[in-house]
Amino acid sequence: MLSYPEESGLSLIVAVERVEARLQPLREKRKTVRRIYLDNNATTPLAPEVFEAMKPFFSEDFGNASSIHWYGQQAKAAVEKAREQVARLIGARASEVVFTSGGTEADNAALVGIIEAARSDAKHVITTAIEHHAVLHMAKALEKRGVSVTYLRAGSSGVVDPDDIARAIRPETVLISVMHANNELGTLQPLEEIGRLARERDVYFHTDAVQSVGKIPVDVEKLGADLLSLSAHKLHGPKGVGALYVRKGTILRPLLYGGHHERDRRPGTENVPGIVGLGKAAELALARLDEEAERLRALRDRLEQGIFARVPQVAINGDPERRLPTTTNLSFDHIEGEGFVIAMDLRGIACSTGAACSSGSLEPSHVLAAIGRSAQQARSSIRFSLGRFNTSEDIDATLEVLPAVVEQLRSVSPHYRKAAVSDQPSALSK
Ligand code: PLP
Repeated sequence: MLSYPEESGLSLIVAVERVEARLQPLREKRKTVRRIYLDNNATTPLAPEVFEAMKPFFSEDFGNASSIHWYGQQAKAAVEKAREQVARLIGARASEVVFTSGGTEADNAALVGIIEAARSDAKHVITTAIEHHAVLHMAKALEKRGVSVTYLRAGSSGVVDPDDIARAIRPETVLISVMHANNELGTLQPLEEIGRLARERDVYFHTDAVQSVGKIPVDVEKLGADLLSLSAHKLHGPKGVGALYVRKGTILRPLLYGGHHERDRRPGTENVPGIVGLGKAAELALARLDEEAERLRALRDRLEQGIFARVPQVAINGDPERRLPTTTNLSFDHIEGEGFVIAMDLRGIACSTGAACSSGSLEPSHVLAAIGRSAQQARSSIRFSLGRFNTSEDIDATLEVLPAVVEQLRSVSPHYRKAAVSDQPSALSK
């Protein structure tokens, strides 16, 4: 037992030192654990090539991209190169790419920008109940400003029905915002159909493609998107930088007010190292897009099949076919997700119960609730998300420790009656 300093009469410093001394061996032990990162939908490790590309812009190439002297021109050239690299990844023109501070700002800017520029009688937005909070919470804020918002439910497989969108369109609808890949499930939405519909009905179409860009082919023309959000840190780039694609001719008010940066679309001195990092990350992703997707799909499938073969009562959340190749979200009956994540972490494996920004929340995932999962099912759901640096050894090591972790957690669950369920196989989907 560690004693409370006031009780023991020790000074706070001595007490802290004692705590530190007791924790040190534990810290040392944790350092020696081989670590495996399977939470790439939360964020990805920076690619070494990206880091190298960014470095000069923290030191000798420090200029402000708006300055007219040599330093400024160096920075400006680097920003414009990155704009080309990002545009190429999503099939856009460079002039249609606006750099932002990340996916959240891009989402906010798309929603606010369209609403503020719309006619005063055209204030209806259609979105879905499974969007990231960067869209959902902005939509809620818009409602407080008098905007009408329709939140469509996704089916039990996590896929939105374009017919529901068609039915929800009204004369005053100005924007449809539907994400490309869901961050918790990986489920892919039928964007081409939604894009076609939006065009036919003359409504702007925004997609939050933060989870799909750099992982699967994304082409703004094919998708029919007028606006598309992306974020560098999901594709092995740096945090705090992203972009909003804005189709030429889209009438959009800026979210922020200030200088004339980004063709008056987004004021503020450009984050040159970040933007360069995003550009390099986009170039690297595009160079190996198809082969990486196939490699990671094979690893993800091996992980899933390995779990099904070893652990009873597991089910996939979301559509097993229509999803990112990198993601699986599984419900393990009779386990508490948070306990599972901690137990796996103690064994060196990082996974998650869902969105990183909802960690610690007592509420079950809004995404799983929207696809009809009970609160209990949602609390037993685990997301594994793979990225460029994962290997087949990572999958083998995970499969080695996971069954014992599940067994251990179930053994302390009052609801788990092993004898009654042990011969029930795992299902592909509920
Ligand atoms: N949209 C989705 C689907 C996301 O997964 C995330 C990040 O988790 C965001 C938006 C927010 O992006 P950022 O972290 O760059 O603000």
